[in-house]
Amino acid sequence: MVVGGGITGLTAAYRLSQGGVHVTVIEPDRLGGKLQTSVVAGRPVDETADAFLLRVPWALALCHDLEVDGELISPAERTAHLFLDGVRKPLPGGHVMGVPTDLDALAASGIVSAAGVERARADLTLPPGPADPQVAGDDVAVGPYLRSRLGDEVVDHLIDPLLGGINAGDTAGMSLAAVVPQLDAAARSGDPSLIRSCLAQRQRVTAAAAAAGAGDVGSAVGQAAPEPPIFATPIGGMARLIDALVALMPGVDIREGRRVDAIERRSAPGTERVLVALDDGSTLDVDAVIVTCPAHAAGPLLAEAAPDASSILSTIDHSSIAMVTMAFERSSLGDTSGASGCLVPRDQGMLVTAVSYATSKWAQLRDPVRDDVILRTSVGRSGDVRFADLDDHQLTEQVLADLDRIVGVTGAPTDLRIGRWLRSFPQYAPGHLDRMDQVDASLAGAPIAVAGMFLRGVGVPACIRSAEEAVAGLGVTWPTRRALGG
Ligand SMILES: Cc1cc2nc3c(=O)[nH]c(=O)nc-3n(C[C@H](O)[C@H](O)[C@H](O)COP(=O)(O)OP(=O)(O)OC[C@H]3O[C@@H](n4cnc5c(N)ncnc54)[C@H](O)[C@@H]3O)c2cc1C
Repeated sequence: MVVGGGITGLTAAYRLSQGGVHVTVIEPDRLGGKLQTSVVAGRPVDETADAFLLRVPWALALCHDLEVDGELISPAERTAHLFLDGVRKPLPGGHVMGVPTDLDALAASGIVSAAGVERARADLTLPPGPADPQVAGDDVAVGPYLRSRLGDEVVDHLIDPLLGGINAGDTAGMSLAAVVPQLDAAARSGDPSLIRSCLAQRQRVTAAAAAAGAGDVGSAVGQAAPEPPIFATPIGGMARLIDALVALMPGVDIREGRRVDAIERRSAPGTERVLVALDDGSTLDVDAVIVTCPAHAAGPLLAEAAPDASSILSTIDHSSIAMVTMAFERSSLGDTSGASGCLVPRDQGMLVTAVSYATSKWAQLRDPVRDDVILRTSVGRSGDVRFADLDDHQLTEQVLADLDRIVGVTGAPTDLRIGRWLRSFPQYAPGHLDRMDQVDASLAGAPIAVAGMFLRGVGVPACIRSAEEAVAGLGVTWPTRRALGG
């Protein structure tokens, strides 16, 4: 059976059912978990995740299997803005997760001062320091390492807004290896200069993409894709993945509105069973369980059945955020064309952490008749939960005030949705991957597996991968429905 009906749980259930296993899914809330596509101003708009990464294969491969790959589209806009001292400035081209690889572009962006550019340039000649993973010999925190290489301004105005935005976290305590494996690989390349290592990495990626041929995703509404696309989403929104999964497993017993309250192991001669207690007082006696609920729920659930895994999962911190999605008449807003959105660094003191210009980013969301604008605004991050003290009206007013500073607002929104995602982002502290290896080791041979965004990546592709690995770890194999390229 599967605990949790998010993308991880439903992928696990789908693969188990393909492998001929009888499956039950228990979900207390609604299917989809943190994937939520809602109707905003008459269009399906993702309130949370609005795309998945194409540079790793798992989400695209699942889409192919679900026959959703023909519905994928990539962002029409790729560049993002940064809001600094009252002005929106384009992020410099050629950065790798915020690490600049073109110092002239960094200087031209105005995002760091001339002294900040020179401090970043010092990376080219600085010897490795104690915060360097090659010196530390272990996983390190993103912030201290990058500050030692590139200086404070680059971290505060580029790296922290980008990585903090994706993970609702603080780079000061974020695992380099778990959160940004590409920077970890660059840091361990043998060249102490992170700028040179990232540049070499970019050149390899560009050459590989050129050799493979530029993007085949993203043409569903005919927008140009001059470079291989990095992200994609189903035209109808990310919930399409959930609907497609459910449609393909009619035999799976999906119980919405039921919660798992306890998990116990029971040994019988020659076999082991798992007893799963539900909140209606019933108990299910099953061969095996895959637990995909958030770590803060999985930890307590596994206290009896897998105490080592339970205590490790219970140490993971979670950040809370809110998403405020609004539609506006175009005449009520300043110009949001030419970029996918805007990041707001911590030192600007605002409630808003990022704004996604949804109708600029996604061509399929543009309504030629209404000619309006949809903005998705993120609020809250690690160490900043001011939004939690605001009611919906106060939150809306505060977000509108911040949006006025960022893009200029002269009229009221024509539609509005607020989503509060409490304890939604697991924070990967240094050493996270080792601890997750310990979780897996403690469960080896047990009829219990864990999967989900707390494990080895917070994105949808990593969740899908973890689900498939959990199913494979229980000894179940599945056929793919279509051959790739078919
Ligand atoms: C605002 C936001 C934006 C994001 N943007 C992106 C993005 O652009 N791209 C991307 O790739 N990823 C993004 N993510 C991350 C992505 O959405 C998640 O990694 C993914 O959806 C998590 O799926 P999951 O199934 O592991 O967990 P969840 O979706 O959390 O599902 C777990 C399920 O377990 C259930 N559950 C909890 N307790 C119990 C219990 N006791 N018994 C049974 N079930 C239980 C919950 O109700 C939930 O439905 C974003 C996340 C958020 C919050």
